[in-house]
Amino acid sequence: MKRPEELVRPEVLALRAYSVADAAGMVKLDAMELPWPLPEPLRAQLAERLARCEIHRYPEPTGRRLREALARAMRVPEGMALILGNGSDDLIQIVTLALARPGATMLVPEPTFVIYRQCATLCGMRLASVPLREDFSFDREAFLAAIREERPALVFLAWPNNPTGTLYPEADVEAVIRAAEGLVVVDEAYHAYAGASFLGRLAEFPNLAVMRTVSKLGLAGIRLGYLAARPEWIEQFHKVRQVYNVNVLTQVAAEFALEHLEVLEEQARRVLAERTVLARALGALPGVTVFPSAANFLLVRVPDAARADAGLRRHGVLVRNFHGVHPRLAHCLRVTVGTPEENRILLGALRESL
Ligand code: PMP
Repeated sequence: MKRPEELVRPEVLALRAYSVADAAGMVKLDAMELPWPLPEPLRAQLAERLARCEIHRYPEPTGRRLREALARAMRVPEGMALILGNGSDDLIQIVTLALARPGATMLVPEPTFVIYRQCATLCGMRLASVPLREDFSFDREAFLAAIREERPALVFLAWPNNPTGTLYPEADVEAVIRAAEGLVVVDEAYHAYAGASFLGRLAEFPNLAVMRTVSKLGLAGIRLGYLAARPEWIEQFHKVRQVYNVNVLTQVAAEFALEHLEVLEEQARRVLAERTVLARALGALPGVTVFPSAANFLLVRVPDAARADAGLRRHGVLVRNFHGVHPRLAHCLRVTVGTPEENRILLGALRESL
């Protein structure tokens, strides 16, 4: 009998599993979640709504009611279509699988969200990347040159970018969309913190898709992402997704949350205010550089990331250490903006861990 190493595809053997640290008892600032649960009265109402779910039935496969509610709440332009995903991770895989013709290329700036590269590998798509500049700004000329050279079938632009927090100039993103003959997915996972979006401009570009998630809006646990584009694209993507990729509980919970969107948006505003306070305080620590962020996290460079990360853990604070992930990210830690109390603990712990 053959061993797994002899049967599993080499590119899978070469992958490292996405690791999530055990956060029990920790101040959890590693995954861009919102620091607050849904407020108590809403939780009770949600429980009632979920209790009425028909969990003995399969969900409506495309999540029709939820799609309609999302289209209204997010003002998706008339004539555009939506597909839902089990988180936007699922949608990244769906789009990549659909476009992974033999020899086709995916182009991304780097460093960026690591799942794009992982999906390209798993789907057998060539990956080409263009480095961001030293300060994580977008190298427009280099990226446009790579589009001419690589002729990518698919471009992913995380906007704002993870893990850097950078919001590339809108004109640069527009130039990429115009230059590409392939599909450009603008990944707006952090739109609630960015104050900018391409969703309203979908009709201008036949090769644009805008992807979002509810994860950074206080709903990471329900796993829901959505992607908007012209119906010709969405029709193809529906063929690729697993038939029941978004379960009934998620569909109903998301519909409920959209009815109370103002609560989630208010939480996002509180995070934004905290981001300003935290950025200033982190920047005042000796040897710490804070990069400008348009998301609910901050990328900071410290004198010694391993030492700082270990010290933070000893103090019960979990952040993400990006040292070694990409040359540009040397000694960089990514910290999610938490509650004022969590941020205070982070600052105290980091001061003692530098
Ligand atoms: N896109 C970007 C840029 C992200 O940072 C993340 C989450 N870290 C995702 C997509 C995936 O989000 P989810 O699967 O939770 O919807």
